[in-house]
Amino acid sequence: SDALRLEGIAKSYHLGKPNEITVLSGVDLAVASGEVCALVAPSGAGKSTLLHIAGLLDAPDAGRVLIAGEDMTGKGDRARTRARRKRIGFVYQFHHLLPEFTATENILLPQLADGVGQGAARDRAVDLLGRVGLSHRLDHRPAEMSGGEQQRVAFCRALANAPDLLLADEPTGNLDPGTSDTVFDALMALVRETGMGALIATHNLDLASRMDRVLRLEAGRLA
Ligand code: ADP
Ligand code: ADP
Repeated sequence: SDALRLEGIAKSYHLGKPNEITVLSGVDLAVASGEVCALVAPSGAGKSTLLHIAGLLDAPDAGRVLIAGEDMTGKGDRARTRARRKRIGFVYQFHHLLPEFTATENILLPQLADGVGQGAARDRAVDLLGRVGLSHRLDHRPAEMSGGEQQRVAFCRALANAPDLLLADEPTGNLDPGTSDTVFDALMALVRETGMGALIATHNLDLASRMDRVLRLEAGRLA
């Protein structure tokens, strides 16, 4: 089944009576399992709004959101939080790692929160860090790592609970171009190995062109 399906998604913001902004007006999209899609949009076009709806952080005014085949429309907070923890991995422009914890511990925590035992969680963290070339950084804290290393740890954390869907918002936006390429390649390799679907918002058209498909958001719809 598809990792993500959006059907007829509409969203407006109401800023008092005459001031209504329609951001999304009928967005349909599907990201297959194993597929990596770029989401490209001019600033203000509604990219963040779309990612928040796909990530179950915000509800659309109309339309359906299906995560790995499960229709999340009208589900309550508990079901949405559960789906976010188990089925969706998030990556942002800034890594948001916990500064007082090591790389390994940052990847352990979401697993422990999900009920995975210490030993298995540690094994998975070490395995993931090895796959992105960070076997020499297991016990380093974020401040002791470079920007590219920090971001690779953030990818591992996003994938810690083996989600069906990865949502990323400018995941390499903070990095210089050379580092950005290396870090992006690491992310692509991880996604390909796990067979998850990924929707990656970026302004970097070079990166976008290396993904399986480019989705353009314009005037509230996908062009
Ligand atoms: P992008 O991520 O593509 O820059 P956003 O989804 O952040 O776009 O925003 C799309 C439009 O919706 C913008 O015009 C923005 O000002 C407006 N907007 C976003 N969030 C809110 C909000 N919470 N309340 C009111 N307007 C908002
Ligand atoms: P908890 O904090 O108890 O784990 P949440 O509902 O806050 O439960 O978070 C569940 C998951 O959803 C988190 O692991 C996080 O990745 C994601 N998440 C929560 N809030 C946000 C947010 N504002 N923006 C992006 N992702 C979020």
